[in-house]
Amino acid sequence: MKPKSVFAQLIILVTLTFGACHKAKDIANFVDTTPKIINIQPFGDINATQIAYIYQQLSAIYDSVQLLKSIPLPQTSYYTPRNRYRADSLIIFLKNQTANGYITIGLTNKDISTTKGKFKDWGVMGLGFCPGKACVVSTFRLSKKETLDQLYKISVHELGHTHGLPHCTTKTCFMRDAEGKNPLKEETNFCPKCKLFLQTKGCTLH
Ligand SMILES: [Zn+2]
Ligand SMILES: [Zn+2]
Repeated sequence: MKPKSVFAQLIILVTLTFGACHKAKDIANFVDTTPKIINIQPFGDINATQIAYIYQQLSAIYDSVQLLKSIPLPQTSYYTPRNRYRADSLIIFLKNQTANGYITIGLTNKDISTTKGKFKDWGVMGLGFCPGKACVVSTFRLSKKETLDQLYKISVHELGHTHGLPHCTTKTCFMRDAEGKNPLKEETNFCPKCKLFLQTKGCTLH
């Protein structure tokens, strides 16, 4: 009888322990972490017209967009050998200051890079984790003649990743993989499939 009793007590203990964990998990699930508010975080001396344009364009897609005060680029993200900033490190920096229910997009005019396959430090126009809480875009590699338009396209591309949208094979879609080039001129809109996905995330896209 005795061992059985100990066994029964163990079962109760295990149930209680798991019960407690489960409860904590339920509370975590209860918090609505679906990103709804977009924070625009300008870095350094990025052009005011460019910031205003992105603010205006994103406000047309999202219910709530907040423009934060410009801050210096974190020196911890600086990559000395190539005189540029690590995009992945910038995303972690931005993520750490992003509350639940928010997505932060960082804007910079400095060159940014990440590790891509065998390339340890690969220059990019933007980067966003898929999904994530923050992304970053740079004007450095954009066409000088079409900077505003391209900045918008790369911003919605990285925000798309942040919402969990992967690259798309449609050549005219904003979610097309740049593959080390700048195909933004060929991109005209989100394709119907990507558009539908983003609409489920609360984006107003026409
Ligand atoms: Zn991408
Ligand atoms: Zn697409």
